[in-house]
Amino acid sequence: MPDPPGANVPSTDKVSTSLMTDRDTIQNPYLLLTPGPLSTTLSVKEVMLRDWCTWDDDYNRGIVQVIRGKLVQLGTRAEGYTSVLMQGSGTFVVEALVGTAIAADGKLLVLSNGAYGQRIAQTARVLAIDHTVIDSGELDAHDPHNVDKALAADPAITHVAMVHGETATGMLNPVAAVGEVVRNRNRVFIVDAMSTFGGVPLDIDEIGIDFLVSSANKCIQGVPGFGFVIARESALAECEGRARSLALDLYDQWRVMEEGSGKWRYTSPTHTVRAFAQALIELEQEGGVEKRHERYRENHRVLVEGMKRLGFRCFLNESNQSPIITAFHDPEEATYEFKRFYADLKRKGFVIYPGKVTEDATFRIGTIGHVFPSDIRSLIAAIEDSIYW
Ligand SMILES: *Cc1c(COP(=O)(O)O)cnc(C)c1O
Repeated sequence: MPDPPGANVPSTDKVSTSLMTDRDTIQNPYLLLTPGPLSTTLSVKEVMLRDWCTWDDDYNRGIVQVIRGKLVQLGTRAEGYTSVLMQGSGTFVVEALVGTAIAADGKLLVLSNGAYGQRIAQTARVLAIDHTVIDSGELDAHDPHNVDKALAADPAITHVAMVHGETATGMLNPVAAVGEVVRNRNRVFIVDAMSTFGGVPLDIDEIGIDFLVSSANKCIQGVPGFGFVIARESALAECEGRARSLALDLYDQWRVMEEGSGKWRYTSPTHTVRAFAQALIELEQEGGVEKRHERYRENHRVLVEGMKRLGFRCFLNESNQSPIITAFHDPEEATYEFKRFYADLKRKGFVIYPGKVTEDATFRIGTIGHVFPSDIRSLIAAIEDSIYW
């Protein structure tokens, strides 16, 4: 995606101050209302002031193994699951997973309804993995009956991949209902929960997810640099030798982390990993995923209520809408210009996000990160004050 417009606009005006210290204000002239990287706490940033050795036990046993254990705990209380961390942004880890999980004679069914679903299909294409796509359209969630029919009709399909929260639109796909179908049909279920994991409760064992992928800089509220996969251990154990890449071999990364008590194969993003460990502590302090979900939902509720009052229309029906990010139709006035709107809000302390849907002109506002309902109220006031078209 191109850089958002207005990137060079100086931001000196007022900033959102609700839950920020003075130092935070100095470091953050604006709040990121984006789907990641997002606004993080000062304490998460502060722990990056220390250096760590990528091969040392203090780092591997002390931080990496703790993180891996906590990630599994966040995914499920059931036995038989493991986690692997992998360098790179979320897409790198999706590619590592898709490229490692599916055997040479396997076939992937991709359930898409937006840019991130399409990216999984694109990954399969680039890696020359046999695949087929069901696209439900950007406005509609996936229907488990269609998935069931597709699986019944094509026995060659070995894996099904779906995005949980489609960040392009804000859609929340019915992961439990689809998971049940995939399990009943005995296929492997891959879920891109990049933008939801840690912010929307889910139990991967109950749902029947074999591989879940997410990254450091979304709902766990860490900083960018790596992602992770939570896997059913027996499913991951079957993946030896399948990877289409050396660096993105998720199986080998897992083996080295297991045998080396947290060792990464190549240089690990030590500072990011340390920040992530702190972010996990802060997630616990907030009260866990349920509490974080409540906060995000309240952020979203305040946002939608305020935006509707100002005359904006949501892109999705509320029944399909996640609390993570919300897409709004552009105002119809001919004088509206996203670039100016964006720059004006940025000067007032809020960075919003461009649209990412194909059919309609939209923009998006994220409600995740170290962001609170009071911030959203300030945003609404800033928007009200910005409506000059
Ligand atoms: C953020 C995100 C990704 C990964 O994007 P990167 O820019 O590579 O971090 C993948 N899927 C979804 C649903 C996402 O929200």
